[in-house]
Amino acid sequence: MATQNQQIPLQIRKIIFEKFNDPNLRFTNDEVFDVLKQSGLDSSLTIDDMEPYFEQLHKEGLIRPIAQNFTTQYFKIFDVVERFDCKSCHLEICLGKLEPRTCPNAACKAPI
Ligand SMILES: [Zn+2]
Repeated sequence: MATQNQQIPLQIRKIIFEKFNDPNLRFTNDEVFDVLKQSGLDSSLTIDDMEPYFEQLHKEGLIRPIAQNFTTQYFKIFDVVERFDCKSCHLEICLGKLEPRTCPNAACKAPI
């Protein structure tokens, strides 16, 4: 379980890369959560459980919150998101252009 949850921020990064990869685009935590659920997220997890992950992605410099309406949070990316294959942990990872070139996998953190 813990291992699976550690992958959630990486999954959110990938969803943003694939579906919301435009700095002018506004997207919501609900939209990202819907894709996570379609991708087989543990059904006991709720949108509230995702809040720390969105906060983490804000701190890491991928997304910024721009508005909130009840539980719906609106985000934009800081800059275009790029995909890499980490040579250290061999995961496919997605990084915003302005982020440090460091693997976002918490168990890895190798330079990209
Ligand atoms: Zn890595």
